[in-house]
Amino acid sequence: MSDAETLFEKIIARELPADIVHETDTTLAFRDINPQASTHVLVVPKTRYRDVAELAAADPQLLADVVATAARVAELEGLDDGYRVVFNTGADAGQTVFHVHAHVLGGEQLGFFGRYTGASG
Ligand code: 5GP
Repeated sequence: MSDAETLFEKIIARELPADIVHETDTTLAFRDINPQASTHVLVVPKTRYRDVAELAAADPQLLADVVATAARVAELEGLDDGYRVVFNTGADAGQTVFHVHAHVLGGEQLGFFGRYTGASG
């Protein structure tokens, strides 16, 4: 990665505060600052890749770690009725932080999603 550091590296380094819900050797999970569901947690690998495609190509095991942490977060948060894992990838998907992250969303019935409505970031 040659791009500038993102705020998620600062959260991983504990240079910025975050509400951390789970941590493993390779991943960190913390609450989204602007939640889009009753439960909205971000899972990041501690090593930076730009997006999920770059992560999958470079380190499939680390991608598996991210997904396993997402599942563990769902368990810890009591999302027994289901949850959604989302990797926004690129501008059209609304990716704003270019350190790959899984959104874990749940705690209520989730609507379908697709076209941008301008309702939220
Ligand atoms: P993206 O749009 O890139 O898929 O998701 C980035 C997410 O990071 C957004 O949902 C946004 O609310 C969240 N976010 C942005 N800045 C911060 C922050 O400083 N702390 C936390 N915990 N989340 C943040």
